[in-house]
This record gives sequence, structure tokens and C-alpha cells, in this order.
Amino acid sequence: MKAVVLTGIRKMQLTEIPEPVISSDKDVKIKLKTIGVCGSDIHYYSEGKIGSQVVDYPFRVGHECSGEIAEIGAAVDNVKVGDLVVVDPSVHCGSCDQCLAGRPHTCRNNKFLGCPGQIEGCLSEFIVMPSFTCFPVTGKLNAIQAALIEPLTIGVYAVNLAAIKNKNTTVAIFGAGPIGLSILMKLKADMVADVGMIEPLDYRLIKAGDIGASWQINPGEEEVEEEVKNRNELLLDVVFEASGEQEAVNNAIKILKPGGKLVLVGIPPEAQYVFNMDLMRRKELTVINVRRQNHCVQEAIDLVTSGAVDVEKMVTHEFNLEETPVAFDMVEGYKFGTVKAMINL
Ligand SMILES: [Zn+2]
Ligand SMILES: [Zn+2]
Repeated sequence: MKAVVLTGIRKMQLTEIPEPVISSDKDVKIKLKTIGVCGSDIHYYSEGKIGSQVVDYPFRVGHECSGEIAEIGAAVDNVKVGDLVVVDPSVHCGSCDQCLAGRPHTCRNNKFLGCPGQIEGCLSEFIVMPSFTCFPVTGKLNAIQAALIEPLTIGVYAVNLAAIKNKNTTVAIFGAGPIGLSILMKLKADMVADVGMIEPLDYRLIKAGDIGASWQINPGEEEVEEEVKNRNELLLDVVFEASGEQEAVNNAIKILKPGGKLVLVGIPPEAQYVFNMDLMRRKELTVINVRRQNHCVQEAIDLVTSGAVDVEKMVTHEFNLEETPVAFDMVEGYKFGTVKAMINL
């Protein structure tokens, strides 16, 4: 089968490799339909690592995907051959303390699709996964919507962790990439009225406006704290950080009101952030860390199926498998107004 593998920093190759085979009676073989290019794939592409997660070449990335069930193991009963499925890239063990505590996303033995040293990614014609990772969506979603469920789940989970109970809660999001936009979409589906977007790329601010942001600030051109104060004198209840930038964290602490919540979703390039502890303590801010998602796949599917979220709004470019290197280059350089690039097979 055809596959795209990383062979070095900014090096990618289309190759021919053997098709994967079902090795457990609970496995399914999936024929890939659509694969989303994620910011984390780009880190592996351009830096060869994310923190302690280092690529050993050659390696195949890709974890946001939809596909058609091509073959099932003897004990599989949740999907059948021909089903279009959303694939949850996270494979948990089901028996460690975290799994037993209802936290499979922090499973001690977690293996993640397209994560170095864990499972080869989905940039290929077929993958084999345990059937519990597959959610059938035939007749509900198209292949592109189905592949966008994974990034959407991160937004859904982050918003659920923030536990916003009042629709008049004032909110800001730093970063209008696919994750920031997913957070925005979930907040709008929850009817949260006042959600602002802070983002240095104007075309992404426009996209956020299309999706329903009530106000937009470009931190490269405007003073964030001052602009927020002009709008909300008492400052904000909740801030989602989805850019991974220290500067955004600094500003987030400034624009949160006493008792506010800072939800950290973005992945910083370095392992550490610096927090203004004096301000954070005086305001008694709550900091919430978000690790991928937990039990949000079905909710994300339902949000798209019901029409509450139009997840395809974030798609700006589509490619075929052979064009994957072009897609990665574009997403890395934020070229041509890229927000989300999809690879269709
Ligand atoms: Zn991703
Ligand atoms: Zn586990």
C-alpha cells in the first residue's frame, strides 16, 4: 500500500509498504478516507520531536482520520464492513489505575496513533486499530466531517472541563487555529454569548468572526489588556489558551477577573511556562490543564450531526495523499491562509 513517511527534518517520502494485518479478534482494518493535518504532525515534521517525544526515522505521522471498515476480527460487534467510522487515535489498556478511574486519556500504557514509539500514523491507505476506537457514522457525517471529529473533541473537552454554567460568562480564546476554533464552536453550540478571539493572524481572526466570535483582538497591533478592559471593565471569567505562547499566558493572567479560570490547551514549544504568581495568587485564579480529551467523541459527533457545529468551516485546503508534503509545507508556513488542511484518499 501507499504510505507517506517522515525520513528527516522537513523530509517526507511517498513509499510502498506492506498492508497491515489484523492480529487480534478485536481488531479492525480501516481503509483511510480523509486525514487532517494537525499542528502536532507539523512539530514532528519540522523539529523531529514534541518535548520528550522524539521521532525515530522513518516514521509515519497522522492521527486525525476517518475511514471505511475493510475487515473485522471475529469478536468485533460495534462496527461492520463498509461502515464509515471516526477513529479515536488513543488506544488505552483498560486495566491500569487511570483506565479504571475513568481516565483512559492518561492511561499508563496509552498508545497514540502517529505518536513516535507508539503506533505508526494514518498517512497511508490502511491501518489496523482495536475496534473500540471506531465510531460508526455512516449516513450521519461525510468523511471530512468525520476526520475533523478528533480536533473537535479537544475543544469539547476543554470547554466541558471549564464547567461554564452561565450563558453570560465572559470568555476569551488565545489562538484561532483548529483547536481554538473548536473551542469557539463548542462555546457557541452551548450558547455562551460573549466569546472573544485573540490571534496575531488577521485571516484567522476573520475566520473566528465567521464562526461567531463576538470580538477580535490582534495582539501584534493592539494592547490586549487595554482592549479587553474597554469592553469588559470587570475583566473576563474564563480564558482558553490555545496558542502555546508565553505571551498569551502573560496576557491571559492580566485579563482574567478575580476567581477566573485559565484553561491551558496549547502545547508550548518548551517544557516550561513562567507565570506571574503574584497576580495569579491575588486574583485566586484556577488553572485547568487539558490532556487531549476524555469521553468526548460521541458528543462531538452529535454536535456535528445535529448541525449545532459546522466543523467544515475550519477547512481551507484539500489535497490527495501524493500531495502530503505540499500540505505540510503550507500548514507549517501558515501559507495561503491555511487553517486546516485535509488529505483525501
Ligand atoms: Zn491533532
Ligand atoms: Zn490504562
